[in-house]
Amino acid sequence: MQTTQCPICSSDIIIEEEAAEKDLVSCLNCGAELEIITLHPLLLEPLQDSTEEDK
Ligand SMILES: [Zn+2]
Repeated sequence: MQTTQCPICSSDIIIEEEAAEKDLVSCLNCGAELEIITLHPLLLEPLQDSTEEDK
């Protein structure tokens, strides 16, 4: 398990051990959906083109 910072709100995000590239994680603080671009180094990118559908 490792942690990184949310690119939007800079709060800590926990990345599970089994996370893979292109997995999606959610920021618990701001709710942003983030895609794991690479694991080494750990790089997250916010999903920009979100269709505004209700969940
Ligand atoms: Zn955030």
